[in-house]
Amino acid sequence: MRSTAPPTGSAPWPVAANGTRCAIPSTRSSGSRTVCGARSTSPGLRAEAGLADGAPLLHRLTCAICGRTAVTLEVGIDPLSGKRALVYSGLVRGEAFLLGGAADVFAKLAQGRVGEVHGSLGVEGIDAYCPDCDRIYCSDHYLLQAEYDEGFYDCTLGTCPEGHRRMIDD
Ligand SMILES: [Zn+2]
Ligand SMILES: [Zn+2]
Repeated sequence: MRSTAPPTGSAPWPVAANGTRCAIPSTRSSGSRTVCGARSTSPGLRAEAGLADGAPLLHRLTCAICGRTAVTLEVGIDPLSGKRALVYSGLVRGEAFLLGGAADVFAKLAQGRVGEVHGSLGVEGIDAYCPDCDRIYCSDHYLLQAEYDEGFYDCTLGTCPEGHRRMIDD
């Protein structure tokens, strides 16, 4: 014997066992302003760094001789503090700078004004940069020489292919 399903045209809501209707809960109280719920995505990295939408977050400085990446400057997370920062990664040093300076640094790099960035980026600037040549060299072409004082690391000297020598990390 085939049981026919009862006509169900009557109830728009599924009826619970106790007979109460499963109504849509009315949580939306009129009058309370709904603050944008997209709180999970805090202000974008680019916005916080003062960069335009779609602007690259990473800049590479490449060796004047071989084209290898010698330095990266990235708007990202400082691995030490876990905070957003302009993260510098060079030949012998890594450093994090305030995110607010990123737009200025990136603008100068885009215009090839590496020397200005070198002069403004912290105390020691860009370790891969030879001011006399106004060029960037990778670790294959910048001769790096670590100096030790009684067994302890003291500083690193760099000598560029043109023979210019300077202290790049102290
Ligand atoms: Zn090179
Ligand atoms: Zn040089």
